[in-house]
Amino acid sequence: MTVVKTFDPNVISLLHNKIHRIESGEGAIYLVGPIKLPVNLDGETVEFKWYCWLNCGEETENFEQIIAKLSSVNLAEYQQSSVLVYGDFEDAETALIRFHSICHTGDIFGSKRCDCGFQLKQSMKLIVEHGHGALFYLANHEGRGIGLFSKALAYILQENGYDTVDANLQLGFVDDARDYSDAIRVLQVLRTKPVTLITNNPRKLEALRRAGLDVENRVPLWGDISEYNEKYLKTKIERSGHLEEEEGCCNND
Ligand SMILES: [Zn+2]
Repeated sequence: MTVVKTFDPNVISLLHNKIHRIESGEGAIYLVGPIKLPVNLDGETVEFKWYCWLNCGEETENFEQIIAKLSSVNLAEYQQSSVLVYGDFEDAETALIRFHSICHTGDIFGSKRCDCGFQLKQSMKLIVEHGHGALFYLANHEGRGIGLFSKALAYILQENGYDTVDANLQLGFVDDARDYSDAIRVLQVLRTKPVTLITNNPRKLEALRRAGLDVENRVPLWGDISEYNEKYLKTKIERSGHLEEEEGCCNND
């Protein structure tokens, strides 16, 4: 890789202080932040610290090389993941975290076919109420990892009688294609103490534990159940291992 541009040394030094390199086996994850992010949470302004990361095949200490490449690699064509940190996440004795899989339809449009939008906002509120925590927003997890276009196809199958699990399988996907390894590596940089995971899905908790996450507890997250997502939520309980004593669940767990 050759450097094709020269940058103002001040620009490079400003950015250098905010970029953290995390080795990831093949290549590296570049974590950018913290960046102040005031957020409107139900009419109240809450300040989170926002980080974003990029997994690169190449690993270099020379951040100038990476920055030089950015304008030509069309990152807007791909999705990058984020984490919103609140409070003293590094040192607090207890902290709540959520690994939230992107849901374009639920989080952005407010679709009621799932409860992702509710879970996203509610987990941010739980973190703020608790005082310390982090919301990981996982951008490559649309439709449990099948992508937005395939999710649209899966919804057509669901409108014609297939449940959410079978729809994914009929399209040639495994039911759940999500991978959490980068998010766990990022978490381990931000906090080494145990965390409490916001999830309704004990299988997800076990998967994260196996992947190296130090989880001491689980907090459930239910709500926004309607006629539109009842069948979907029931499938998640019956087929994807979600706890039965409670009602509901989603794409995200
Ligand atoms: Zn959803």
